[in-house]
Amino acid sequence: MMNIAFIGLGNMGLSMAANLIKGGHAVVGFDVSKDAMNSHVANGGSVSATAAEAAANTSIVITMLPNGTIVKESIFDEGGVHETIANDALLIDMSTIHPNETDEIRKKLAARGIAMVDAPVGRTSVEARAGTSLFMVGAEKHDLETARPILECMGDTIIDCGGPGTGSRMKIVNNLMTTSLNVLTAQVLSFSDATGLDRDLALKVMGGTAAGKGHMSTTYPAKVLKGDLEPAFMIDLAKKDLDIALQLAGDLEVPLSLPTQAEKVYLTAQEGGRGGQDWTAIYDMLQRDQRSSA
Ligand code: NAD
Repeated sequence: MMNIAFIGLGNMGLSMAANLIKGGHAVVGFDVSKDAMNSHVANGGSVSATAAEAAANTSIVITMLPNGTIVKESIFDEGGVHETIANDALLIDMSTIHPNETDEIRKKLAARGIAMVDAPVGRTSVEARAGTSLFMVGAEKHDLETARPILECMGDTIIDCGGPGTGSRMKIVNNLMTTSLNVLTAQVLSFSDATGLDRDLALKVMGGTAAGKGHMSTTYPAKVLKGDLEPAFMIDLAKKDLDIALQLAGDLEVPLSLPTQAEKVYLTAQEGGRGGQDWTAIYDMLQRDQRSSA
């Protein structure tokens, strides 16, 4: 059993703290919302009047807050964690924040000899409630091992992202994909609806192709990530299909901003002589562009 402070008892934090309690730990919570604190008490936790009070006499302090500014305030401002946290305690920030802020917080804590783990959370509050979250951990190895049994109470997948700050970076990379795909998904389904197709059938079809399975688990490992640009499906043909979709969407008056941007990238690939390459060669093109402009 460990004494753990949990700062930020919102959609995610409240459930995560509840799973720590279920794991046999004593969890003292703090949140600016009284309702959140009451819910934490109903879950078997205790509460305190400030973040500083919560952090006193604990060996682990967890922050699960909306953004980097609030994380920094809750740690370093008056009444913040820094006033009471023990020098041998571990601070685990599980919020999604800018990686530069993660580095800044780690540096300030290190100046006091306090270790930090960045462990942002994958999946949503549904999995947080079930204790099946995924954690992207950036930490020194021994700090990860200290955090591991705590994280295991709250999730089922713990991924060492490769050292301090890498969890925070991984989370932002991951969310670039999920947030962008969300918009693309909404646009594609709007287009599908406008063509008059049955939505469930559209989901079924796309669930069986790279559309729904995702390029990262299908076409990319099969081709470009192996350095193979021989066409399984040519860029010229992919662009032909995208052009048909954009024409049809124009007729149906469905705006498709992301596919319109994608079309420009395919055009650039064709202009660069890549029309006969595999469609995943778009990644090869972007990598070369980045290297030549560096
Ligand atoms: P939330 O808004 O539901 O919870 C944040 C909590 O922090 C609230 O209860 C709020 O009252 C509290 N808070 C605000 N300022 C505070 C302060 N100064 N001191 C103490 N408490 C304070 O947000 P959430 O969905 O729980 O997300 C928390 C973090 O986790 C965010 O960084 C979010 O991006 C990330 N995240 C969310 C999800 C999700 O599915 N909701 C998934 C993964 C990661």
